[in-house]
Amino acid sequence: MLEVIEKLLLLQDRDRKILRTEEELAHIEPERKALQEKASSTQSGLENAKLKVKQLETERKRLELEAETLKTKIEKYSIQQFETKKNEEFRALTKEIDNCKAAVIKLDDQQIELMEQIEAAQKEVATASKVAADAKKLVDDQLTQLAARETNLDKELEQLTANREELAAHVDDSTRARYERLLKHKGGSAVVGIQHGVCGGCRLKFPPQIVLSCKQDQEIVTCPNCGRILYYTKDMDLAVSD
Ligand SMILES: [Zn+2]
Repeated sequence: MLEVIEKLLLLQDRDRKILRTEEELAHIEPERKALQEKASSTQSGLENAKLKVKQLETERKRLELEAETLKTKIEKYSIQQFETKKNEEFRALTKEIDNCKAAVIKLDDQQIELMEQIEAAQKEVATASKVAADAKKLVDDQLTQLAARETNLDKELEQLTANREELAAHVDDSTRARYERLLKHKGGSAVVGIQHGVCGGCRLKFPPQIVLSCKQDQEIVTCPNCGRILYYTKDMDLAVSD
């Protein structure tokens, strides 16, 4: 194998690791956002449950006040009834009192119903509160792990980049420029092996002279179809006979 190919393969190995590391790093922020959203959605679930209890309690208080007002009216009508001497007025007041009493009974029933709803809503608050607390704990743990992973990946990337620069410095400028162009356009696969007489990048079947010139190790050979830099090793012959 040409020495420059060996150097390029080492370089490509680092570049692939760099690409993988960068890809992993790119996932960190969306993951962090998803975790934060998960925690805040359980928290807002809890807030909603609490709000429901509050609304039901307000409604129950309103009914209670309404009933109180009616009871005061009943008292007032009873006094008026006691004071009046007119039969007609007495009867009219009796009717008013009966209406008020019926309305109070209805309001009491509604309050009982609301109290049942309040009890159920309070149970929901307790459940939502546990769910939110559990989610927060889990998310906090995961966020800590994520931050640690990010730090490690940053460090790894820094080392890989430094190492890559060192390796790249050993390759001549024009070959390096060619390699880097290919790497950019071919998704991290610039230098490929010939496998079973076929390009390891685009799968083109080569005529024998390309395989031969690659075997001779005289100059850099590229694929006429995809332009990738080719290399040939004896191990590949073994692979062919397999
Ligand atoms: Zn090719």
